[in-house]
Amino acid sequence: MYFIDVILPIPIKQAFTYSVNAHEAHFLKPGHRVAVPFGKSKIYTAIVYKVHQTPPQTYETKEIDQILDEYPLVTETQLKHWQWIADYYLCSIGEVMRAALPGAFLLESETIIRLQTERPASEAALSEQEEMILEALENRQQLHLNDVRSILDRKQVLGVIQALLEKNRIALVETLYEQYIPKMVSYLQLAPQYKEESALTALLDEMQRAPKQREVLMQLFMLSARQSGAVKRPELLAEVAGAAAPLRSLIDKGIVLEEKRQTDRKAQWESDTADSKGLSEAQERAYKQIRQQFTEKSVCLFHGVTSSGKTEVYVKLIEEQLAHGKQVLYMLPEIALTTQLISRLQEYFGDRVGVYHSRYSVHERVEVWNQLLRQDQRAQLVVGARSTVFLPFQDLGLVIVDEEHEHSFKQYNPAPRYHGRDAAVVLASLCKAKVLLGSATPALETYQNAVSGKYGLVSLKERYGKVLLPDTQLVDLRDKNRKKRMQGHFSDSLLEAIQETLAEKKQVILFKNRRGFAPIMECMTCGSAPQCPNCDVSLTFHKAKGQLRCHYCGYASPLTKQCGACGSMTLDPKGFGTEQIQTELQELLPEARIARMDQDTTRGKHAHAKLIHGFEQGDIDILVGTQMLAKGLDFRAVGLVGVMQADSLLNFPDFRAHERSFQLLSQVAGRAGRTKDRGKVLIQAFNPEHLILQQVTTHDYDGMFKDEMEQRRQYGYPPFNRLIRFTFKHRNFETMQNGSRWFAKALEAQFNEGVLGPEIPPVGRIRNEYLSHVLLKVPVNAGIKAYKGKVGMLVRNFEAQKPFARIKLVVDVDPY
Ligand code: ADP
Ligand code: ZN
Ligand code: ZN
Repeated sequence: MYFIDVILPIPIKQAFTYSVNAHEAHFLKPGHRVAVPFGKSKIYTAIVYKVHQTPPQTYETKEIDQILDEYPLVTETQLKHWQWIADYYLCSIGEVMRAALPGAFLLESETIIRLQTERPASEAALSEQEEMILEALENRQQLHLNDVRSILDRKQVLGVIQALLEKNRIALVETLYEQYIPKMVSYLQLAPQYKEESALTALLDEMQRAPKQREVLMQLFMLSARQSGAVKRPELLAEVAGAAAPLRSLIDKGIVLEEKRQTDRKAQWESDTADSKGLSEAQERAYKQIRQQFTEKSVCLFHGVTSSGKTEVYVKLIEEQLAHGKQVLYMLPEIALTTQLISRLQEYFGDRVGVYHSRYSVHERVEVWNQLLRQDQRAQLVVGARSTVFLPFQDLGLVIVDEEHEHSFKQYNPAPRYHGRDAAVVLASLCKAKVLLGSATPALETYQNAVSGKYGLVSLKERYGKVLLPDTQLVDLRDKNRKKRMQGHFSDSLLEAIQETLAEKKQVILFKNRRGFAPIMECMTCGSAPQCPNCDVSLTFHKAKGQLRCHYCGYASPLTKQCGACGSMTLDPKGFGTEQIQTELQELLPEARIARMDQDTTRGKHAHAKLIHGFEQGDIDILVGTQMLAKGLDFRAVGLVGVMQADSLLNFPDFRAHERSFQLLSQVAGRAGRTKDRGKVLIQAFNPEHLILQQVTTHDYDGMFKDEMEQRRQYGYPPFNRLIRFTFKHRNFETMQNGSRWFAKALEAQFNEGVLGPEIPPVGRIRNEYLSHVLLKVPVNAGIKAYKGKVGMLVRNFEAQKPFARIKLVVDVDPY
C-alpha cells in the first residue's frame, strides 16, 4: 500500500492523503503535480508533499486521477518556504500554493478553456482526444471542465488539457485579471553584411542615384552608432523628412532589417549589451562595503538618499552574481515596476532579464517559471513585484528588495497575507543567498535590525553627481490664511514658485495624499486634529454616529465643533483632493499643461505609462498626483515639488502615520532636482512646527528614527511587539459582536495582556457584513512558534463553537 500526502489549493489546514500504486509511488517526488478527485465531483491540481506507506486512520483514501508532470514543478526549497509562510502567517499551505502557482498550473473543475489565438501553436502531433476537444472548441467558444469530461466520456481530463496548453492550442479563460498586451514598436538596423565600414561605403557609393535612400541609410547608421544598437522606426522618421517610402525600399531590398518587438523586450538579434556605468567614488565605496558586509551577514540594508544611484550599485552586484552563474531576484513594489526600470536593466543584461508581472498573461508567467526550473540563462535575473518570491529558484545568489519600506509589499487579501520583503529574507536564507534591502527611507524595523547588528548597514549620503538634496521649505498655512495670502488651496509662495519654475522651462510636481479615506476632523484655524488620550493616533470622525473614535483602543468621544487645541469653533471634516487642485490651478494658470496622476486617471491599460512618458517627454508642465508619484520615478527636469497639505498625512489614524509621512514626503521631495541644479520643495502645512516636518526639511532620518522608536517603545507597537489582527465578519451584528467578544476573552485568558478590542473599524460594514477587530500584541522575544501554536488552537476552538460557525475570521500577522 502506497500513499501520498498532497497540498490542495484550498484554505483547509490538514493533510490530504490519496492512494497510489507502487509504480506511481516510485515515480512521484515532492513537488510533482497530480490531478485528484475531491468531494462529490470536484477535481483539483494537487502538489505531492510526501510519499509514504501509512494509511490514514479516519478515512478511506481515494486514488489519484493522474500524474501531470514529468518532473517536479515545485522544488523542495519552495515547499519549505510555503510551509514557513503558512506557519508564520497562520494560513493553510494550500492558500500559499494558490498564490504561488501561475493559474495555468492550477487546472481544476472550475477551469474554462478556449482556443489559443494569440500565440503560434507548436507542431507537435495531437492525440485523438486532443483533436476531439479542439473540434468542440471550434463550435463552442468555451468549454468547462465538465464539458470536456462528457466529450471524452471519461473522468480524467486534466492531463489532456495540460497537453493542449503546452502545445499552445488552447488558452485559459482568465476572468480575474485583465490581460497585459505589450506594446509593439518597430526596430531597424542595417543588415549584418553592411556593418563593416568598407561594405557600407561601397553600398553608399552604389546609391548615388537614390539620394533619398542614401540619406536615410546614413541617418540610420549614425543613430545606431550613437545608441549602439537597433533604432526605433519613429526616431528615424523624425530625423529625415519623407523617409517612409525610401525606408520601405531599403527594407524590401534587404539592406535594412525591421523587427517588431515589445517595448519592454529585447530583440533576438541584439545580444550585445551596454556595459554598466563606472561608479562614482561614493558608489564604489558603498559597493565595497556591501560586499564586505555580505562576508559576515546575510542581509544588508543599503540606506542611500534619493538619486544617490542605488540602481547602479545593484547592477554591479548583479553582474557579479550572473558571472558566477547565480540567479538573482530583483523585487520592487508593483507601481515602481515601470518600463523605465525594466529597460534600464535590459540595457545591461539583455535577454537574461525575466519579467514576472501579474499583468502578464499566464503563458508568460509560466515561461519564466520553467526557465528558472531549467536554470535557463533567459531568466537568470528576475524582476517583479512581491509574488516573485514564489518562483522556483535553483541557484539563487542574491535578492534585492528595492524601496523596501513600501507597504505595498504586504498582501492584504486573500491569504497568504504575507510581506514580500520578509518572505524574501526567509527564502534567501533557505537558499543560502544574500539579501540587499534598498531604501532612502528604510522601514523602522529594518533600520532597527541594522543598527542592532542583525543586518549589515551601508549608507550612501550623497546624490549622484554631487547634486544637492533639494532645498526644502515649509509654508505656514495658518499664517497665509490670516494674512489672506491664499488663492484656493495655493499660498502665494507656492504659486510664485510654480510660475518661476515654469518660466525656467522646468517641470512641477504637486502632491496631495490619497483622497476618500476615513475622514478626520481638522481645525481650520490651527490645523490640529483631536487625538486619543490613550494612544498616539488621531481620532476618526464617524458621521453616522456623530462620534470621534480611536481605532486602536476603542475610545470614543461625542463630536464637538470646538477644537481642543485652540478653542476655535472651526473643527471641520472636509478634505480636498487632487481633482480639485487641478481645476483650481488650471484657472490660476490657464496656459499651463496640467495632468493628474491618481487611481482615477490611471485605470486604463497603459494610462500610467502614458502619463509617465508624457511627463518625461515634456508634454506636461505640471503633474498633480497622489503617492503614485513617489515610487522610484526618475524624471530629469523637475525643478519644484509642492506638497499641498502635509497635516492630513500626519493625522492619519495609524501608529505608523509619522513614519509613513516622513517616508512619503522624503520620497516625493526626492523627485526634485535630480540633475545639476538643486531642486526646490515647498511643503504647505497648518502645523509647520510638527517635528516630522522639521525632520523632512533637514533630511534627518536618524532624528525621526530615534523619536519614533521612543513612541513605539512607550505604546508597545512594532518593532517592540508584533501584532496579530483578527477580523470578524458576519451579516448579523449581534452574532459578530458576540463572537469577537468571546474570542477576545479567550485570548486574554490565554495571554493575560496585549489584547486590544474588540473594536469596530472605521468602515463597520462591508458588503453587508459587520466587522470587528481584535488586536494581539506579541512580545518579540516570545517563542513565536509556541505563541502561534496557541493562537492557532484558539482559532480552531472558535471555529468549533456552534453559534459562531458562520462568522468569518480573518487572521493577519504583521497587519501593516
Ligand atoms: P536612486 O535609485 O538612488 O534614487 P538612481 O539609481 O535612479 O537613484 O540614479 C539617479 C540618476 O543618476 C539616474 O538617472 C542614473 O542614471 C544616474 N546615475 C547614477 N549613478 C550613475 C553613474 N555611476 N554614472 C552615470 N549616471 C549615474
Ligand atoms: Zn484649533
Ligand atoms: Zn486609542
